[in-house]
Amino acid sequence: MDEVRYGNDIQVLVVGGGIAGLSCAGLLEQRGFSPDVVEKTDEYGGLGYALGLWPAGSNILKGLGKYEEFCSYADPMHTYTLLSDSGEELHSYDLTSLADEYGKPHLIWRPRLVDVLRDTVSDDNIRMGTTVTEIDQRGDEVDVSFTDGTTSTYDLVIGADGIHSKVRELTFTDVDLTYQGMTSWAFWVDPEMVEMGVAKEHWGDGRFAGLYPTDDGLACFLAVAAPEGTSDPVDQRKRRIRNNFQGMGGFIPDVLDELESQDSEDIWHDDFYDLKMDQWVNNRVVLIGDAAHAPLPTAGVGASMAMESAAVIADELTRTDSEYLGQALDHYVTRRRSRVDHVQQKSRQIGKFALFDHSTVLSALRDQAVKLYSQERMERYYEDFLSTEI
Ligand SMILES: Cc1cc2nc3c(=O)[nH]c(=O)nc-3n(C[C@H](O)[C@H](O)[C@H](O)COP(=O)(O)OP(=O)(O)OC[C@H]3O[C@@H](n4cnc5c(N)ncnc54)[C@H](O)[C@@H]3O)c2cc1C
Repeated sequence: MDEVRYGNDIQVLVVGGGIAGLSCAGLLEQRGFSPDVVEKTDEYGGLGYALGLWPAGSNILKGLGKYEEFCSYADPMHTYTLLSDSGEELHSYDLTSLADEYGKPHLIWRPRLVDVLRDTVSDDNIRMGTTVTEIDQRGDEVDVSFTDGTTSTYDLVIGADGIHSKVRELTFTDVDLTYQGMTSWAFWVDPEMVEMGVAKEHWGDGRFAGLYPTDDGLACFLAVAAPEGTSDPVDQRKRRIRNNFQGMGGFIPDVLDELESQDSEDIWHDDFYDLKMDQWVNNRVVLIGDAAHAPLPTAGVGASMAMESAAVIADELTRTDSEYLGQALDHYVTRRRSRVDHVQQKSRQIGKFALFDHSTVLSALRDQAVKLYSQERMERYYEDFLSTEI
């Protein structure tokens, strides 16, 4: 590949067809590129969890021509209510004025969002059940080997393969992926438990619970403090949840009743990790989304940030050529670094505050602080996130 290639002829591989990867590939296709996408799973769907998507993310669906479809599956969130471990209401925040100013935050089932995004990438460009085995950089070109036995050469490889990124493992060394001492589950519960548009969370003592109404149903998310590597055998999952959440007030007794009728196989489970990286670019390999900058799930901003990064890298690629790709990647980092660092730092604070595995006394103080945290302060917190240019 000796000649300089411009815009649409730049050869791009996107590894990971999740939220960041599909957003990026969809935007590139819209601009006439034809990126290859490889996605590890054989098919989409299956288990998942509910996402709160802020306009920072959902605005990108407008450019993709998918906002209306997204809205047909997503429900606007107008109220955010926080309860203590015992079920006392600590604060209920009205999100209406933020929505009026910046656009509505929505709740959506993650697999549903992936389906909407999947539609923006042509079938010919995406290979399911495939991942990379080797990434070999030679000057300005990247040779990639895949699990299906094929190899190809690219100008750029975009790692959008999530928090446990294979691209990152094969290409980067400065990775600090640390277990955050929390494990979590998600499953459906009776939609009657909260009204549409109201997200409710228990900020407990070493445990956290949330209810998020989506068009697909009411999603319950639970998290507890747990040592790293604690196993979660499917046949003991329900007992483990019951043991961890017994004695919690509010909506938890109803959730535990609902748990009885769940099939353990249908309960999503994962551990919390946090990722800090100094570099997102290694020559002609770049990371976006959780692969580069995963925030804690409790912050509720990871998908929005992943979509923003996808939009910025797609934008930069339309204004370069194969020779000056390095500059475009530098611009991507410049445009994203301080915003991502800032949001990540805040997400760490709020994530730890929400679960707070310290002592009953400190949790009681935390509860008092939440009661005193005014509507205005909450709005300022989110305005900072929503008003920044990308
Ligand atoms: C329980 C929970 C709740 C959350 N709630 C929110 C929320 O309310 N709001 C919010 O904004 N964010 C939330 N997040 C975070 C959000 O889900 C992530 O930040 C977002 O999904 C990141 O998108 P991504 O595309 O970078 O990664 P992912 O969504 O993880 O997608 C990665 C994709 O790459 C694929 N893949 C993985 N490895 C490979 C490989 N080796 N080769 C090829 N493909 C591969 C995966 O199958 C997947 O399709 C939550 C996360 C969790 C776990």
